[in-house]
Amino acid sequence: MTNKNFEAHEIRDEISINYKYSLGSQSKFFIDLMNDKKLQGTKCKKCGKIWMPPRMGCSDCFEDTEWIELPHRGEIMVSTIVWYTTSDFIQKIPYGIAFIKLDKADTGMLQGVFSENLVPSKLRKGQLVRAVFKTKENREGKMTDFFFVPEEEYETWINQPEYEGGE
Ligand SMILES: [Zn+2]
Repeated sequence: MTNKNFEAHEIRDEISINYKYSLGSQSKFFIDLMNDKKLQGTKCKKCGKIWMPPRMGCSDCFEDTEWIELPHRGEIMVSTIVWYTTSDFIQKIPYGIAFIKLDKADTGMLQGVFSENLVPSKLRKGQLVRAVFKTKENREGKMTDFFFVPEEEYETWINQPEYEGGE
């Protein structure tokens, strides 16, 4: 209920926060992604399971893992189409996000899947996808440095000036 004896006077203002955060033990993934377009998971020294995203310890047997470079190709395990998103991606909607299992990996990573003509069949389970990277001057060591596209669209994407292929 509105209180007529009280009227709030509101002034639009802005808070700017400059900060940094550490990516901790996963820093190597992001540094080598930025510099060399590597997609690295980790392999358990005991059971051999390959984790992607990388984990420093194996969640199955609790042993240490070691870095292993993975192929830039994989397949969609499960996906959805995004219609509501943050400012970073507003120009891209609609686009897909999917859990993607890279070849050799035993687990899936969540990442965007872009398509020239996004229809649900482009995101179906088992769809082969390939990583496309931003050009070196635009890579920042973040997950947004790369995305996946359906295998059959790969050449089209890497021929755009802002993107390049990885391998
Ligand atoms: Zn293990």
